[in-house]
Amino acid sequence: MKKIQMVDLKGQYKDIKEKINGSFEEILDSTAFINGPEVQNFQKELEDYLGVKHVIPCANGTDALQIAMMGLGLKPGDEVITADFTFAATVEVIALLQLTPVLVDVEPDTFNIDPEAIKKAITPKTKAIVPVHLFGQAANMDAIMEIAKEHDLFVIEDNAQAIGGNYHSKAGQVYKTGTMGDVAATSFFPSKNLGCYGDGGAIYTNNDELAHTIRGIVNHGMYERYHHDVVGVNSRLDSLQAAVLRAKLPNLNQYNEARRKAADKYDKAFEDQAEIEIPKRQGNRDAHVFHQYTLKITNGKRDALAKHLQEKNIPFGIYYPIPLHLQKAYADERYNEADFPVTNKLVKEVISLPMHTELDDEQINFIAGTIVDFMNRK
Ligand SMILES: *Cc1c(COP(=O)(O)O)cnc(C)c1O
Repeated sequence: MKKIQMVDLKGQYKDIKEKINGSFEEILDSTAFINGPEVQNFQKELEDYLGVKHVIPCANGTDALQIAMMGLGLKPGDEVITADFTFAATVEVIALLQLTPVLVDVEPDTFNIDPEAIKKAITPKTKAIVPVHLFGQAANMDAIMEIAKEHDLFVIEDNAQAIGGNYHSKAGQVYKTGTMGDVAATSFFPSKNLGCYGDGGAIYTNNDELAHTIRGIVNHGMYERYHHDVVGVNSRLDSLQAAVLRAKLPNLNQYNEARRKAADKYDKAFEDQAEIEIPKRQGNRDAHVFHQYTLKITNGKRDALAKHLQEKNIPFGIYYPIPLHLQKAYADERYNEADFPVTNKLVKEVISLPMHTELDDEQINFIAGTIVDFMNRK
């Protein structure tokens, strides 16, 4: 059996090696390392893929979130509601901009922000909601957009984990994740579903004015050379990373389908296990891109299982082990433990299994078999 990796980027590279190496050589020869044609071409290709008017590439996903919030003109003291169960980047940028993060509970089956909890957290100071499409599946955007409309709030989609996924609205429309709110942020970190070979990110929006504002912010607040109209940042995607992304983008649907196929096999292997809950899919097959395949172990043995997997050399991840509202950096006396029943429980139950485009049946059977055996030990 091939060695099992949590994330395996080698197989993908082998298939696109000639394309990538060729582009790298051209870029090295041209020395157009920054703002070269690769970046502009990638931007257009991603706009076409997503069906969105504007993509603004930037240096990483965390920057993308920060810049999106800067672009919307959010001011210190404005309250921004986001999920308690996510990667810290989401709440980090809210705090860095001196906005007030308001963490709320998530849904037990999808792991995504709970619209009812959003409603309860709204105050006159609330300005924005940041749904995170966690583990590869969109949050409940029908409900979130309705709440945002009613209370006149911005919606910033954290699409770092769900690029390429579709959202099927109640009205029967199909949207790519990240194209429903006012603006979205994504990450091209190597292990993401569309990853480059270093750091990268992008912001996207259908709003022309916001896109213009953001294009200046990513470039030191310049709209005209050496005229700095607003305080900006330096956040660029470089040409080499853009070339990697251009080689991979045409394969993104196929990569996501390979992840879904692995998820199908895991699902099947665990279907009869009473104490293992498989990840919930919201109906349509294309709605989940399985950035992570995350189980809930409901018999209190998650940590024992993790130890067992470690002994068997099977990689796994605990995403996330601590709710954000209990992290030192984000603790706040306004929070009440009774408001986070789901997150507080999830952190004890979740375990993510190896998930990537290169998993083969032998590996999946070994991983699933090891888990099922462990769970049925007397
Ligand atoms: C990866 C990730 C980010 C940050 O992306 P970077 O490119 O690592 O800065 C933000 N939010 C979520 C949910 C992520 O998974």
